[in-house]
Amino acid sequence: MIEIKEVSKIYDLKNRKVVAVDNVSLSINNGDIFGIIGYSGAGKSTLVRMINQLETQDKGKILINGHELNKLSPKQLRQLRTKIGMIFQHFNLLWSRTVSENIELALQIAGIKDKHKRQQRVKELVDLVGLTGRENAYPSELSGGQKQRVAIAGILAMSPSIIILDEATSMLDPKGKKEINNLVHQLNKDK
Ligand code: ADP
Repeated sequence: MIEIKEVSKIYDLKNRKVVAVDNVSLSINNGDIFGIIGYSGAGKSTLVRMINQLETQDKGKILINGHELNKLSPKQLRQLRTKIGMIFQHFNLLWSRTVSENIELALQIAGIKDKHKRQQRVKELVDLVGLTGRENAYPSELSGGQKQRVAIAGILAMSPSIIILDEATSMLDPKGKKEINNLVHQLNKDK
């Protein structure tokens, strides 16, 4: 469970203060898909970045499964971050590597040292995100929705307990948006 309690974030710029997040409270239960909607500049990215402490709040508390984030040691925070995956609008792929190679790299980073195990897991992840048959394609040969599916497979390689999608579909056409929304719902059901 994620609990955000009276959280504010103020950016102190040279000549003015920007209140990016103003006293926000919300709870997200395990298994929920929770959407945050608002105008550009409303503070959505800042808010979600505080969940993995890429940004720290100036006021209020954030708890994950009852643990208050700003009371964690640097080591505990690093461990927590490995369980929180983040998907951005720009896909975060290596363009010189194929679908399989991109996913395998994510598994390598996740600490799977055995090559055979990695390749087995690549197959499973490719299948999970519906890219079977496109393993050897390069990102430039894929549609936006397919590229984002590769990025999602890379995040799933970490076996995250929380996935944050920050405008993950905003670069996609309507078909791509639908594809990714369906995939997210499917993954959430299957987990
Ligand atoms: P959204 O994701 O809803 O578009 P953001 O969280 O990106 O909104 O931004 C909220 C407000 O905080 C905006 O006014 C933005 O300019 C400001 N802001 C975001 N990041 C920074 C930063 N690193 N330094 C200063 N101001 C920032």
